Parts: sequence; C-alpha cells; structure tokens
Amino acid sequence: MQNLTILAKYPFLTDAKKYIKENGPTVNELLENILYERARTIGVERLDNAFNKRDIGERSLATDTDCIMELLSYPIARMVAVCVADNYFNKRYALGEAYNAYKNLLKESTEFLLDVSKEFNIKTYYSKENNKISVFFKDYLRYAPTRYKEWKMINRDMEHGHIRITHKDLARLILEALRARINQELSTRECNKTINETFTSDINKFQNTVMMHRKKIEAAPVGKISIEKLPPCMKDILSAIQAGENVPHMGRFALVAFLNSLKLNTNEILKLFSTAPDYEEDKTRYQVEHITGSSSTTSYRPPGCDKMRTYGICPTDKMDNLCKRISHPHRYYIIKWKREKGKK
Ligand code: SF4
Repeated sequence: MQNLTILAKYPFLTDAKKYIKENGPTVNELLENILYERARTIGVERLDNAFNKRDIGERSLATDTDCIMELLSYPIARMVAVCVADNYFNKRYALGEAYNAYKNLLKESTEFLLDVSKEFNIKTYYSKENNKISVFFKDYLRYAPTRYKEWKMINRDMEHGHIRITHKDLARLILEALRARINQELSTRECNKTINETFTSDINKFQNTVMMHRKKIEAAPVGKISIEKLPPCMKDILSAIQAGENVPHMGRFALVAFLNSLKLNTNEILKLFSTAPDYEEDKTRYQVEHITGSSSTTSYRPPGCDKMRTYGICPTDKMDNLCKRISHPHRYYIIKWKREKGKK
C-alpha cells in the first residue's frame, strides 16, 4: 500500500480506493458527520476550481488528517458532479483532476509513473540503464494528443511495436487516460438522493454557473462571426476545444477550415484554441496557418456534410431542420446570417 500522501495526491489509484474501503467512513458518515466537514468542503472546492481554473487546486498535505480529508474529498466531488448532471461541467471537472495529477506526476520517479500506467493498462517498457521508456503503439495511439506535430507517429521512433517516449510524455498519456476514465465513469453513474439533498445549494450554484457560462460563449462574437449561428457540428467541436478535450485532428481541421472560410484571421482562430490546458501558441499557430494557407501554398476547403458524416463529426442526433436542407456547414451559417440580416 502506498503512503497517505501519495494516496491523497492520486486518489484514483486502486490503493486509494482500497484504503477508503478498509479504513474510511460509510457514505452516510461522510455526508453527515461533522468530522468530515472539511472533506465535503474540499470536494466542492475541487469542482469549483476545476470549472473555473481547469485544475482542482493544491491544499496542504502536511499531516495525516490533511491527507485523509483530501483523499475523501475525491469521491465527494465525483458524486456531486454526477448530480450536477451536465456533460460540459463533468468534462471540465475530469480535466481538472487529470491536469492536477499530471503536474504531480512530472515530479515523481519514472518507476512510479510506470506503476501508475499499469492501472490504465498502458503497456510500457523501461530500460533503467539507458533511461529509455517506450510504450506499446496501440496504447500510444489510444491516448496521445496526435493533433500536435511531435505526437504524430511519423515523428516518433518505433522499435518492435513500441514507441520511444519521455517521462513527460508518459505523464501526458496518463493525463489523457485518467480524463477518459473519469468521463466514462461519471457518464454511467446515477445521482445519489442523499448527495442531492446534502449538496443542493452547491449543485444549484454549479448548474447556474454552467448556464451563465454557456450564454456568455453563445453571445460572444468570435472575431466577426457569431457562435449562435454555427451549425451543430461546429458548435460541438468548438465547445470540446473550449472544454480542453482531446479533439481528433479531423475535427480541428474542419473547424479551422470552416472559420477560415468565414474570413476569420489566424489570431481570431487562435483565440478560440487558447482555452485548452495544453495550449501552446507556437504549435497551434503553425497548424492553423498550415490549414488556412498562410504558411503554405494550399488553403484547405472545409469539408461538406457528407464528409463530416464519414468522419463521424456530424452529430446526427443534434441535426436541426436547417441541417436537413443544406449540404455544407458553411451554407448553414450563411442562411442563418441572412435570416438575421433580413429581420433588421
Ligand atoms: S448536417 Fe452538416 S451542418 Fe448539420 S451538423 Fe451535420 S455536418 Fe454540420
């Protein structure tokens, strides 16, 4: 069993769950007993920080009590998140947890990261002698943010089905694996009635915050365009990027080419991408300029609806009546824009 500080820093580990099961309070005690008031407060703080700062935040882990409260706050945060029942909120929460773990993992030994990666079935190979780490290519592809040039397979050394990575890369793969796991777990859990009653005011507060945040995003013009006129596909890709999700290359390509077709310049497009937790202006600028043609001889046209469907980035369940009449996302925007202009 790992020590308490480690369990507090990485509450998603199997050892942490085991510790709570063997030594922790019952759910009712956790929710009602004054002894666990601090864990409840930290649980809400994790969610608040994750939503507003994209990181669950740091607290003192100087004593055993500090560590236990931190550890217990994790299941509380998750249970409250399930009751907030908002996909966007939960995704930001998952990212906040994963990003915090990533920051801590960077300071740990490589051996520790290798142990953590086993919890996510990431198959690794480590040669201590030459300090070389590699990961099985299928696991690499599952979690690598391949939208970035240095993560593309073509830019990596592969030997016997394993890809060479660094300590930092492994921490990043764990970030993505943890984020995916939390997202998956939250989406399959039901809201617990007692949690709902105990945290009613916090749950309401979070739901209102998300609503206000959505309104702000929808009302804010991006450069010369308005978000509310975007077709469902582009709205989805944009909100995934703003929530810091690992959007597949085709989605990012379609959005950049689409915004470019609406005459947004590179800086206006970059502004949209800048909310991602791992946003790196130089790399993103390079990608955007490549698609828009400012740094190459080709300017790519945005894909039409058929192609969007082929790539699985047309959210067919969200298609509206206008979607059924058009064959290109660009046309969708133009019709909406003309309709509004006609009203004036
Ligand atoms: S039908 Fe076309 S415009 Fe509508 S969501 Fe799908 S890809 Fe986008």
